[in-house]
Amino acid sequence: MNAALIDAGITPIETDLGEYIIQLADEAPSHIIAPVVHKTKEQVAEIFRDHHQHLDSQRDLTAGEDLVSEARTILREKYFEADVGITGANFLIAETGSTVIVTNEGNGDLTQALPDTHVVVSSIEKVVPTLEDATTMIRLLGRSATGQDMSAYTTFSTGPKRAADKDGPKDFHVVLLDNGRSQILGSKYRDILRCIRCAACMNHCPVYAAVGGHTYGSTYMGPVGSVITPAIWGIDASSDLPNASTFCGRCAEVCPMKIPLPDLMREWRNDAAQGGYNSFWERLGVKIWAQIAKRPTLYRSLTGPTAWLGAMLAGKKGYFQSIPGLSSWTKSRVMPAPAKKSFMAQYKARQS
Ligand code: SF4
Repeated sequence: MNAALIDAGITPIETDLGEYIIQLADEAPSHIIAPVVHKTKEQVAEIFRDHHQHLDSQRDLTAGEDLVSEARTILREKYFEADVGITGANFLIAETGSTVIVTNEGNGDLTQALPDTHVVVSSIEKVVPTLEDATTMIRLLGRSATGQDMSAYTTFSTGPKRAADKDGPKDFHVVLLDNGRSQILGSKYRDILRCIRCAACMNHCPVYAAVGGHTYGSTYMGPVGSVITPAIWGIDASSDLPNASTFCGRCAEVCPMKIPLPDLMREWRNDAAQGGYNSFWERLGVKIWAQIAKRPTLYRSLTGPTAWLGAMLAGKKGYFQSIPGLSSWTKSRVMPAPAKKSFMAQYKARQS
């Protein structure tokens, strides 16, 4: 939306602290509730020095509090200057026509209360039937997202300021965004529409922890992203994502909405295979693997010597800096060496 607003001559300012830093750095978020989790305090201080050049260059920005205080001072002015405040919605309540947002910084409240116009932009799966349902979801969200009983600010909006109200916008608009959601509703992937964006699945995902959020190339990362992104972009454009899982099952275990994430990723893998979206080499590799894995004696006779050879070649370092044919992997990280003995060999040795 920001790119479209800029093209239309409008200057959008992000007000969530993490999103504000990301906007200044001209980067994408790497986590859905902690967008700037990939940056250190020092990197944030450098970004602030680059962009807030009207401030004293000798100021102290070593503590987190210094950074928060500087962002707060700058953003305060922006609220008073803004003509329009745009928020998302965590929930939309059908019973009352209200929109709900939760924040821990209070930025959502200032965005919707200070400018003359408040626009809510929300995708349609955020609709819940009643106020009671919304309060249940809000409790689930806080606990699963940040371990809080409730987020610090929970704000319900049900229209513009009335005559007796002291504050609030003069105009209030709600924009409902479909963007592929109604197609998901009629499909085998409909369970993903229950997602409340708590991020618990990515916080517990060993793959997300190893590769970080930017690797997924989408607004949604981690297990939820590996299911919802193919539904929005199409599996032809994102067939790698459902493969970004070890199927350890932690994501489904922690998901407060009980979304069967590994099952849905498996469905996407099937769809990608049926649609022929996997590369020739991937298909060939899986075929060879299947032939070996179906024959335990052959499997063991190959894995034992391969593990030993891998460990020998890696030597004392215990990892490979580069491997021909796997340069996409090794250009940004090393490849750990296998154990000298295969799992089965170690298991047998322990039993004897
Ligand atoms: S899929 Fe579940 S755990 Fe992941 S963000 Fe959505 S609700 Fe949270």
